[in-house]
Amino acid sequence: MNKAIILVNRPVGKPTVDNFKFVEEENPVPGEGQVLLKTLYVSVDPYLRGRMSDTKSYVPPFNLNEPVKSAIIAEVTASKNPDFKSGDFVTGLLDWKEFQVADGKGLKKVDSDAAPLSAYLGVLGMTGLTAYIGLNEIGKPKAGETLVVSGAAGAVGSVVGQIGKILGCKVIGLAGSDEKTDMLKSKFGLDEAINYKTTTDMKAAIGAAAPDGVDVYFDNVGGEISDAVLAHVNQFARVPICGAISSYNDTEVSMGPRVQSILVKTSTLMQGFIVSNYSSQFPEATKQLTAWVQEGKLSYNETVVNGFDQIPQAFIDLFEGKNDGKMVVKI
Ligand code: NDP
Repeated sequence: MNKAIILVNRPVGKPTVDNFKFVEEENPVPGEGQVLLKTLYVSVDPYLRGRMSDTKSYVPPFNLNEPVKSAIIAEVTASKNPDFKSGDFVTGLLDWKEFQVADGKGLKKVDSDAAPLSAYLGVLGMTGLTAYIGLNEIGKPKAGETLVVSGAAGAVGSVVGQIGKILGCKVIGLAGSDEKTDMLKSKFGLDEAINYKTTTDMKAAIGAAAPDGVDVYFDNVGGEISDAVLAHVNQFARVPICGAISSYNDTEVSMGPRVQSILVKTSTLMQGFIVSNYSSQFPEATKQLTAWVQEGKLSYNETVVNGFDQIPQAFIDLFEGKNDGKMVVKI
């Protein structure tokens, strides 16, 4: 029998394993034009939390009692589609199932010789693209400027910080443990790193780390961390709003300092973005990210959790900061 994971009820606050149910179904058989896919790696991502709530967003919510979907790397194990052959590796937005059939639409072949397969879920996949596009399109960093990135040890943040260094910025990373802040400096070459969980006065700590102020703030987390950074923005600063993980499990809207007067006084640009709106730039961005990885200029961490039955817990653990770099589940 085939295994699938469905959403059985919508999380209120932090997700729990009881929001999901493991179900068995008949093994799928590909029809004409279809491929049979064996799941190899499953990406778990903070944005899936939004799709588990029944609220209006840029993507529709998951339906109850249907499989959750995320980016997956799969092997084609049988094909009745001329574009794919058995043994091909592909990535796409697929169901949390061990095996599934697909018609090939939205599937992209990935090259296991060019990079480890899991990298196509992280540095060479959606999170790497998010870092590259958000930073370049909105952050527009220039050599010599000061870049602050929150969620700096995560999948997106760790790529942002390193691109900042490649482009000649002073980079300050914010993360949730001493192991992470040490790694940001030793492995990724960031200039400063601050553990927001042990720092009592974040505003003062950022002021000390960025004596010349902040020119670009790449925001992955929102909340009080971002309030502290925004107190230091320079004239004409740019603030790409990538995510707000600190509020994804909130049941009430939290209130921070109102930002309008900061933005007016400093002429700061603050702009949210969704990476999928920049798909025309994916080929060029992927080419550059791949080149940097191959040249050894861009490295990446992964937290690889083993086993199909661990997918829901791996997703939940994102909200506890248990991942270092991209969180993936190996099946
Ligand atoms: P990460 O790999 O960064 O994993 C999540 C990390 O968030 C955790 O490791 C943890 O690190 C941190 N975190 C968890 N809870 C909190 C909290 N309450 N306050 C502060 N930090 C917290 O995930 P991604 O790199 O995949 O995603 C990062 C952000 O980017 C998310 O907000 C996500 O939604 C967003 N995103 C946006 C996209 C877009 O198109 N706009 C596309 C992809 C991602 P720590 O130990 O440091 O706390």
